Amino acid sequence: MVIPVEDEHTAETAEQLKKELEDLNKKFHILLDSIPGGVIVYDAETGKIDYVSDGCLSTFSCSEEQFREHFYNNFDLFVMKEDRAQVREQVADQLRFFDHVELRYRVLDLMGNVVWISHRARLVKEADGRRIFYAILNDVTNEQLAQKQLAIRNRQLKEESERYALLEEATDNITYDYNVLTDTLMSSLRDANGNRRTTKDCVKGGYLPDVIYREDYPTFEALMMEALEKPFKGVVEYRIYGEEGRHVWYRLNFASFADETEKIYRIVGSAKDITQEKAEQEALKAKVEMDMMTGLLNKVTMRSEVEKYLEECDIGVCHALLMIDTDNFKSVNDQLGHQYGDKVIQFVASSIRDTFRDSDYVGRVGGDEFMVFMKHTTPSITEERAEKLNSRIRHTFSQGDIAVSISCSIGIAYFGIDGEDFESLYKSADDALYEAKEAGKNCYRIHKSGTEDEA
Ligand code: GH3
Ligand code: MG
Repeated sequence: MVIPVEDEHTAETAEQLKKELEDLNKKFHILLDSIPGGVIVYDAETGKIDYVSDGCLSTFSCSEEQFREHFYNNFDLFVMKEDRAQVREQVADQLRFFDHVELRYRVLDLMGNVVWISHRARLVKEADGRRIFYAILNDVTNEQLAQKQLAIRNRQLKEESERYALLEEATDNITYDYNVLTDTLMSSLRDANGNRRTTKDCVKGGYLPDVIYREDYPTFEALMMEALEKPFKGVVEYRIYGEEGRHVWYRLNFASFADETEKIYRIVGSAKDITQEKAEQEALKAKVEMDMMTGLLNKVTMRSEVEKYLEECDIGVCHALLMIDTDNFKSVNDQLGHQYGDKVIQFVASSIRDTFRDSDYVGRVGGDEFMVFMKHTTPSITEERAEKLNSRIRHTFSQGDIAVSISCSIGIAYFGIDGEDFESLYKSADDALYEAKEAGKNCYRIHKSGTEDEA
């Protein structure tokens, strides 16, 4: 601004005006420097930077000289190369409607680090016709990073829930979500309208004891009570009443969650149909415990069952252990063939099974050798059964003109008289069986320390 000096008075006024202007300018810069972030002033056409505030310099931790040098004193070059085209486009778009622009772009600082800038600028037309941008810049790198992380997290969450939904469909598992406050159970099972099945008054209305097997409910209930008391993770297997007296086995993995007052508000779980698995387990168990050919207990199971029983039973009660061996069985194999022999073993096995009570243990302990443990018997009942068995097994098998006769020999030992445990009872019964064989087979013998009798 050129002020003509005409007289002393005018010169004084000019001096005062200049001082006031300088004052104003100073205040303006103080104001600019105190704006959070920073300020830059640049030419809208050429991008030439007229002014950089201290705030702006401290964002980039450099001096004004370094700033101007690093960015070639030009706003266009201040913006990171990758964002320039987009910034130019956005500026043009916004200026069509407004005299201000709002931008977000990246700047590479003097160390080569990316700084995210939020940019709000107003376009001002100067007296000389130049169009100038006054821009307030803020470093929003942290905010941008947080947003990016949030976006990643949201995407992961979305992916997880999609994956979960897919898994839910793929595995056929039924998911449950129990709201403790409203006593409402929501499951992934769909009703006729395709909505998730919801059961209100789940505990109050006695829904669960109605659907879960009576024998399985106490365990189920005990675990749920624990889950309602504190955050708890568990597994429970139970049966659900099915159609026509059939049942479905489920394995439920569940977890309970507490709110900030440590009160349980939710139990979630995933139930898998394990009916098939249970059936396979049962079959496997039977396979391990049973003799495959006859369906009777095998030697190992026979021993463990009798041992278990003897450990728990009262002294002074009469139980008997019988060893039974088929007489002349080798002749069957030799004359009628091995396969025929198998059928004969099955005949002997079912004859024995039919002779004794269901609660007695019956096992096949060798090729043609069997064992019976009679619970709560008397000597007369035992001998009567032994006699019956002798006559049942006495049999002639014939094929064409070949005929083979079999019978059986039986050794009997009594608990408490001939032995106190499985091992001694077994030995006594085996000794008695030897006696029966020695006596000519087709008879029973009672161990010598007991009463002896002849069939
Ligand atoms: P004893 O009158 O003295 O009892 O003689 P045995 O001919 O009955 O012969 P022993 O009891 O000494 O032997 C039983 C035979 O049973 C021996 C074996 O060849 C045969 N054997 C064992 N297991 C099987 C089987 O699973 N199937 C068939 N067919 N034969 C078997
Ligand atoms: Mg034999």
